[in-house]
Amino acid sequence: MIESIPTEFEVLDDRFRTCRGDPTVERLYAGCRWAEGPVYVPGGRYLVWSDIPNDRMLRWDEPTGLVGVFRQPSRYANGSTLDAQGRLVTCEHGERRVSRTEHDGSITTIADRVAGKRLNSPNDVVVRSDGSIWFTDPAYGIDSDYEGHQAESEIGSCNVYRIDAVTGECRVVADDFARPNGLAFSRDETALYVTDTGVGHMRVFSVTADGGLTGGGVFAECSAGGFDGIRLDTHGRVWAAAGDGVHCFDPDGTLIGKLRLPEPTANLVFGGLKRNRLFVTASTSLYSLLLNVNGAAAPWQG
Ligand code: MG
Repeated sequence: MIESIPTEFEVLDDRFRTCRGDPTVERLYAGCRWAEGPVYVPGGRYLVWSDIPNDRMLRWDEPTGLVGVFRQPSRYANGSTLDAQGRLVTCEHGERRVSRTEHDGSITTIADRVAGKRLNSPNDVVVRSDGSIWFTDPAYGIDSDYEGHQAESEIGSCNVYRIDAVTGECRVVADDFARPNGLAFSRDETALYVTDTGVGHMRVFSVTADGGLTGGGVFAECSAGGFDGIRLDTHGRVWAAAGDGVHCFDPDGTLIGKLRLPEPTANLVFGGLKRNRLFVTASTSLYSLLLNVNGAAAPWQG
């Protein structure tokens, strides 16, 4: 049953005032152990997200509001996104891989090893317009059996990776993270934001012509818990999941406001056909509200 709760916007800077939206937040679903990885599928008008410890992915149907199981077991799936062909690309803790769900429903492994060593537990993923796939690989899915299968790290570090669209090669693009987690490109794809939950901050890199990263300075420190998933809006503001809700940063790095939620948040995505509906996965629940901003679309999404 949908529950409406009063929206708590915390305005820290006047620039946030124009971003606010609905006076109530809808709790679309409660009953997860740890909700993560939301992705909105415009062609079907549904949202898929992960309930990691329950080893399942759920689907919320926008026209009807109904929620059902999308995939179980999900191999402890975490973050997902869509590629340019509209296929689901998913990080799986259980298989320690990044997978793609094909149009016929079969699942293809895109990357599970680097230099012969198994990945730790891919966490979140984005696809660039050149078809390359970028993902983070912290160890949350092998730390214990809660979010995957407990195991030793074969690689011995938690890195950010890029999978080449043509060759399929998977290579390290950043190796100086404690726990890389959420990641998102700027709208023109020249910058990549990556959160480090192990340290509690977010960094920003420049993308080089050969598909590497330079820079990587701190963009923002997290003032409540640690950052997890992030998304950008069309004005370049960065929206980040944190311990007390969703934090909104101006492109200059200023924390301008928060959407406070009753539970620690893990991830978010802009959806709806206008991408002005924010969906937030937060501990046991999926929340949603309309904002006065629109999520930045990948180039192939128009
Ligand atoms: Mg995450």
